[in-house]
Amino acid sequence: MDKIHEYSNGELTIIWQPNICQHAGICVKMLPKVYNPKERPWIKIENATTAELIDQIGKCPSGALTYRMEKKKEE
Ligand code: SF4
Repeated sequence: MDKIHEYSNGELTIIWQPNICQHAGICVKMLPKVYNPKERPWIKIENATTAELIDQIGKCPSGALTYRMEKKKEE
């Protein structure tokens, strides 16, 4: 069964699929304040801007990290 974990900052939602993750650690090297495998939750989305997160997610070699944009509530 494919597990999916989601982490949202209200603007962007990170989708992490542990079954695909190769634990290459690119995410941890790029944004250590966000990705810390020793802590739970291991992704702290509030510690980076949406733009930084999008840039990093694009560099995940396995495709384990993806994202979707959330609709803003304000008109
Ligand atoms: S960069 Fe992608 S494959 Fe590498 S540890 Fe992070 S989520 Fe896993």
